[in-house]
Amino acid sequence: MFYADLKHFKAKTGYEINGIWYPRVTSIVSIKAKPALYKFYADQGNFSMAESIKSKSADEGTLIHETIEAILTEKPVAVPHPIQPAINAFLEFKKKNEIVPMKIEERVVSKNHWYAGTVDVIGKLNGQLGILDIKTSYSIYRDYGLQTAAYVEAVKENNIFPTTRWVLRIDQAKECTKCGAKMREKGGNIKVRGGTVSCQHSFGETVGEIELKELDNFESDIKAFLACRNLWEWEHDFWIKKIKNGSSPI
Ligand SMILES: [Zn+2]
Repeated sequence: MFYADLKHFKAKTGYEINGIWYPRVTSIVSIKAKPALYKFYADQGNFSMAESIKSKSADEGTLIHETIEAILTEKPVAVPHPIQPAINAFLEFKKKNEIVPMKIEERVVSKNHWYAGTVDVIGKLNGQLGILDIKTSYSIYRDYGLQTAAYVEAVKENNIFPTTRWVLRIDQAKECTKCGAKMREKGGNIKVRGGTVSCQHSFGETVGEIELKELDNFESDIKAFLACRNLWEWEHDFWIKKIKNGSSPI
């Protein structure tokens, strides 16, 4: 990534909160190599095509996020048609589980470790206090442990003590009625996974999918996140020095 100047670097990689600039959790964890992402780029065969799919797919993810957050805050919301199946899956989940949000889209700061981030939900799920991260990915990746551990650590500094972390994965796909293969269409990228290769697929309606995973091993995840943070600082040494030595408040 090329940064034109300090202002550009700060805007792309962090937040300014009460006059102090902090690196963003998502920027910090992006320092870690992501083999699955490289495979995705290789599969697209074309960098700009892959970028376009990624950004459209991120837009859909944002729409799902915003809609769910509106539902949780009990705001009236018109569900956009293309994401209706995913939202239905969430509403079904909400009926079966008691979600009591305390904070939604909450900006959290770790002054001890110098980073900030935005937590989707801090609240109680079936009576247990935790943080909930909503993902619209194909599966629940191990890397999510780093991000969510960082949020927990920051939340604790603000005297809220979550006892656990969850990832709630929400997605939608069409299923083959013959072999069970699943077809996802995200950002114009059509991908068929599972099922039988020789099958002449017959795909049905788009159906929502929802999966809740509680993450354990907090100690190991926070250690790994803080290692990422140190590496992030090393990688961006050029800009960090400017920030730390600058006459303007950091
Ligand atoms: Zn099939």
